[in-house]
Parts: sequence; structure tokens; C-alpha cells
Amino acid sequence: MGSPCSDCGGQVAYQTLSREFEREGMTVSVSGIRALVCQQCGEVYFEPGGAQALVEAADSLFRLGQWNRQHKGKLSAAVPA
Ligand SMILES: [Zn+2]
Repeated sequence: MGSPCSDCGGQVAYQTLSREFEREGMTVSVSGIRALVCQQCGEVYFEPGGAQALVEAADSLFRLGQWNRQHKGKLSAAVPA
């Protein structure tokens, strides 16, 4: 905390985000991701391992969608608070 944005020098604060990923016509969304966001330019800083965990969560949803043969539509998951 307290470390300014390395992009613009603005203040960063924790926010809860959601992210959508699209692959082969399928959209998945992961919500409840806690990350530091610059209040000035909107740059997102994930905690160590956070970005990787997010990608893994999206991959899991894509696998679930393929397993369900749900090639269209949208899957979503929320990270427990
Ligand atoms: Zn910034």
C-alpha cells in the first residue's frame, strides 16, 4: 500500500474487479478479483500471483465450457471474498 502508480505517479487503491475472456466464441468472466487500481490512469496492479491465478481461473472455465460442449454463451465464476 502507498506505493504510487509507476505509470503516472497517481495513488493506487484496492478495488474489486471482474474480467472477461473470449476464446473460440465462448466468453467467460471471473469476478471478485482484488487488485490495486490507479485512481488517476486506471492501471491495474495485481498482487503477486494474482494475474496468473486469474488466467488459471479463466482456463478452468474454458475447460468446463468445452466439457459441457457449451461453445456459445457465457460462463462466469466469482472469487470468494
Ligand atoms: Zn496511474
